[in-house]
Order: sequence, then C-alpha cells, then structure tokens
Amino acid sequence: MLIGVIGAGAAGLAFSVRLNQKCPNAEITVFEAQPSAGQKILATGNGRCNLSNTDAGIIGYNNPFAKNIVDVNEALDFFSSIGLKTREESQGRLYPYSLQAQSVRDVLLTAANSLGTQLITECTVEGCAYRDKRFMLKTSKGDFTCDILVIASGGKAGAPQDSASNGYSILQSFSHTLIEPCPALVQLTSPNKICRILKGMRTKCNLTIGKENEILYSEQGELLFTEYGLSGIVSLDAGTIVAREFANDKASRIHAIIDFAPDFDTEQIAVHYKKFGNLTGIVGNAVSDIIQKQCNGDCNIAAKCCKNQKLIISGTKGFSFAQVTSGGICVNEFTEHLESKKQKNLFAVGEVLDVDGKCGGFNLQWAWSSAIKAADYIGSYL
Ligand SMILES: Cc1cc2nc3c(=O)[nH]c(=O)nc-3n(C[C@H](O)[C@H](O)[C@H](O)COP(=O)(O)OP(=O)(O)OC[C@H]3O[C@@H](n4cnc5c(N)ncnc54)[C@H](O)[C@@H]3O)c2cc1C
Repeated sequence: MLIGVIGAGAAGLAFSVRLNQKCPNAEITVFEAQPSAGQKILATGNGRCNLSNTDAGIIGYNNPFAKNIVDVNEALDFFSSIGLKTREESQGRLYPYSLQAQSVRDVLLTAANSLGTQLITECTVEGCAYRDKRFMLKTSKGDFTCDILVIASGGKAGAPQDSASNGYSILQSFSHTLIEPCPALVQLTSPNKICRILKGMRTKCNLTIGKENEILYSEQGELLFTEYGLSGIVSLDAGTIVAREFANDKASRIHAIIDFAPDFDTEQIAVHYKKFGNLTGIVGNAVSDIIQKQCNGDCNIAAKCCKNQKLIISGTKGFSFAQVTSGGICVNEFTEHLESKKQKNLFAVGEVLDVDGKCGGFNLQWAWSSAIKAADYIGSYL
C-alpha cells in the first residue's frame, strides 16, 4: 500500500516517522511545497520550540475532540525514541533540552530519512481525485497515486505569503466542511496612544477583553506594549477571541481593560496614592506618569486608572503574524483515529483541522498527537 502525505510540517513529519517505526515496509511519500521540511518548527517558541505542555489534554483546546487524542506522555516517548531529550520550564511548558527548535526539526528529519520516508520538497499538491479505490494526486512535479492519503497541510497562520496551501480545498472536495479560518494567538491592535508611549514595556497585569457590557476574556499574564498595540502571552490568547469577534462582525466594538496591579484592590491603591502622591512604587515610572496625567491629583481616579485602564481594540495583526489558525476542517467528520467519515483511507492531522490550543505548547502537541494516533491506526491494518 502506498501512503501519500501532503505537508512535511510538524504533523506530517511526526506521522511519517511514527508509521515507519511501526511498519518499516510502509512506503510513504511526503510532498512539501517549501524548499525544506519543518520550516515552521524552526520559528516556534522564539526559536526554542515550546513543543508541549504538561497540562495539554486536561485543558487548553477549543474543541473537546482534542481531549481524547492528546497524550503528552505518548508524544514525549515518541521524541525519546528518536533521540530528543526534553525539559520542563514554567507553567508546564516543555522544550527540547537544547532549547533549540532546530533540534526538534533535525531529529524528525533524520529519523524520517533513516527510516526510508521519501520526501519530495518544492512540490505542491494541486489537487486530488479518487478513482478505482486510489487517490490521484496532481502535483507541481507530476501525478502520483496512493492508497492512503494523509492531509497534514497546516492552516493559514504564519504560512509564507506565497504559500499554496490547499489542504482545505482538497478536503472540501471530499464533502468535508470548512469552518471559517481565523487568526489565533495573534497580537492586538489599538489606536490608543498609551501603547506607543509605553512601547517596549512588559508588565504582569490582568487583561480583560469586553464587548459593550459583555466580558469575553479575562486573564492574568505578561503584556507587552508595542507601536501597534498589545503583544505578550496574555494578549495572544485574547487575540484568538478578538479575531473571531471581528470575523463575525467587522463593526464589533471591542475594548481592553488593563489592571496594572491585580494584587491590590482599588482602595489600597487610592490610599497609596494619597500617601505618596504617585504610583511609581507599584507600577513603575512610565505607567505612573500616565496615571498622573489622567487623574489630576485625585486618588480615587488614580486608583481607577490603575485598575481599569481602558483601550479601544481595533483588530488583530492577522494571519501573517498569527501563530495558529482557529477554524479549519470540522472534526466531527473524523473518527478518533483521524480518518474521514466521508472517505475511507483519507486522514487529516494537525492544524488543518478545527482544533486550536492556548499559547504554551498546546498546538504542537496537537500536531504530534493527531499524527501519532493516525499512524498507529494505519499501522494496525497495513
Ligand atoms: C511564529 C510561530 C511560533 C509558534 N510557536 C509555537 C510554540 O512555541 N508552541 C506550539 O505549540 N505551537 C507554536 N506555533 C504553532 C505551531 O507551529 C503549529 O500549530 C504547527 O506547526 C502545526 O503543524 P502542522 O504540521 O499541522 O502544520 P505546519 O507546521 O504549518 O506544516 C504544514 C506543511 O504543509 C505544507 N503544505 C501546505 N499545503 C501544501 C500542498 N498543497 N502541497 C505540499 N505541501 C503543502 C506547508 O508548506 C507546511 O510545511 C507557532 C507558530 C508560529 C507561526
């Protein structure tokens, strides 16, 4: 049986290695549109590759479908089997021991090559038809036929501008449903000048995102002020929700409320201001200066500005800056082995499906686990 894989990213590489480990004779060909495999892995985790999270599966995904599939220990055992050691950092984040994303990409590629996976780079799969129980792939380097097809083509986030990713349309041609893709884990844009005044400053705060009187999101974490608005982990997670709101209604009126001192209540802040005449000792000089101008010497207004600093949110930085895609192909149309319920021997793994996770290693974990589950299942009947 010939197995074709569209995409040599995190999921496509993990799938191929796992299947060839289980079935050394499986003939796997992976088609990759880019000049080399696993390019996005190199950019993950700021070049360190936050490859998983100890909490993944218990929490962290948009879709309950992921819960039954994600298995952190299974993924770590898989990496161990191809020679990658890992380490845990804060908040359960797991990294390669080297703290270099290149280690992750390289162990996967070395294993794929040594196990006999055929990798064809700079080869875009342009379309697919199903005839006589076989998948007929039309690629930029000619036609190819396979018995089992695995779509691991990723989503729209962080893909090169000229990317020819068409995994969605191939799956749609087999009657699968596409849930409108949206940028996720993406920075927020704001016209408020405080972002530009504070640009470059990181702060631990509470960020609330609201739409008129409704609270959409509220979390504590690190925020980074930038020229265009807000970045940092807490704003990336908020970006997922904001992008979806603007996709549903371009005229949405979204705001952010920053609490610069979540460990103190309004009264404590007011008392502090009354005593010292500023909030430098709590929020630092730059924020204190802004509050000073806003409060006009009034301790209650100072406390309000510190705990309820309101910004307009005009949108997000979009797909080019997003780490992940929310939306994608509907998972209800797949079995727990990631096989299509509409077409036998058709599988989809990784970000092409409508699964997205929080910031912190959850998305790569989904890529590994979905790939492993599909490979183990195919391996059981090859
Ligand atoms: C800057 C950045 C940082 C990130 N950091 C983290 C992190 O630290 N931790 C984390 O968990 N997640 C992180 N992510 C998200 C994570 O990288 C993705 O969720 C993961 O790579 C998805 O894996 P995938 O294999 O499904 O898709 P991809 O890795 O995108 O791979 C898909 C591959 O398919 C190829 N392809 C697409 N269509 C075709 C076609 N028609 N023919 C041939 N080839 C095709 C593409 O070129 C690509 O190589 C980050 C993402 C970005 C952009």
